[in-house]
Amino acid sequence: MSECVFCKIVAGQIPSEKVYEDDRILAFEDINPKAPTHILLIPKKHLENLNDGASDPALLGEIVARSAVLARELGVPDFRLVTNTGREAGQVVFHLHFHLLAGRRMGWPPG
Ligand code: AMP
Ligand code: ZN
Repeated sequence: MSECVFCKIVAGQIPSEKVYEDDRILAFEDINPKAPTHILLIPKKHLENLNDGASDPALLGEIVARSAVLARELGVPDFRLVTNTGREAGQVVFHLHFHLLAGRRMGWPPG
């Protein structure tokens, strides 16, 4: 079995607070939220990050489109969608994920 923490969440071996699920995508609450709303959207299949994800652009489109639907449903139409790609960019978990952040004013540029 994979040692990947997000693969374990997909498999139900680690608990998560799910907010959306279909056959290709899972969305759940970030365990250490950086904003009042902090959801992670992930592909169910293991892709390391966006470099890997480029192999499936349709899936990337589904995730991005789903983030906007979820933001609207959660009542946060102003939101930020972030995917850290590589260690230098802040990636810690190497299973592709998009951070949906909302509920407070966001600074720019990011640190
Ligand atoms: P990144 O730095 O972009 O790789 O972000 C990884 C994110 O995963 C962080 O915001 C963590 O708080 C979050 N995270 C790590 N483990 C879990 C978990 N078991 N459940 C929910 N979120 C997690
Ligand atoms: Zn994984």
